[in-house]
Amino acid sequence: MVNRADLISIFGEMVNDEMLVVTPIGSTTPLWERTGRGPTSLTSVSLGMCTPTALGLALALPHRKVIALDSDGNLILNLCSLGTVGNERPKNLTIIVFDNGNYLSGGPGKGKPGMPTATAGNMDLAAVGRGCGIEKASIVRTEAEFKVAAEKALKEDGPSMIVAKIDPVDVRQTKNFREDRGPGQDTRENKYSFARHIERLENIKILKRGGG
Ligand SMILES: [Mg+2]
Repeated sequence: MVNRADLISIFGEMVNDEMLVVTPIGSTTPLWERTGRGPTSLTSVSLGMCTPTALGLALALPHRKVIALDSDGNLILNLCSLGTVGNERPKNLTIIVFDNGNYLSGGPGKGKPGMPTATAGNMDLAAVGRGCGIEKASIVRTEAEFKVAAEKALKEDGPSMIVAKIDPVDVRQTKNFREDRGPGQDTRENKYSFARHIERLENIKILKRGGG
């Protein structure tokens, strides 16, 4: 297996500012912020809402590649969103699921897995995706497999789904994991900077001046 930090840094090299990335609460967001793409991504999206939010963006901006960097616990909470992805079939949507088979990894620096998710047992999220109509859904277990699958997903029409089986614990977490991500944004600031990013990309107006 591989670790989340390595896959995220590999993926950070693959995307460009023309693509929109959505990350959920949990370990993925601080690791993604380390790539420097925090302000041009929508980060720390509420539990279960990463894939649905990316789906909404993909449908609203069909000419633009949208990527959800989801995780097992987050996606399982809102599994029905895969049914909507499979029915809507947005060509521009890629869902990457970092599947560590547990919730929270026991917290930063603790080095222990949290409570197991269903994928620690028999649940196969890629099979669920295919069952929902996302034909391009696969499992990867190595960095090399991840690279090939991610490159393909970014190049070809989707929807596509990559379930990356990762280590149960984010081994590179430090005691101050979340603080060590460098200059960050709070979630409100991030929402506005992401909206401004889309305004620039699309040459449209989203945010309106308040009254008074
Ligand atoms: Mg997990």
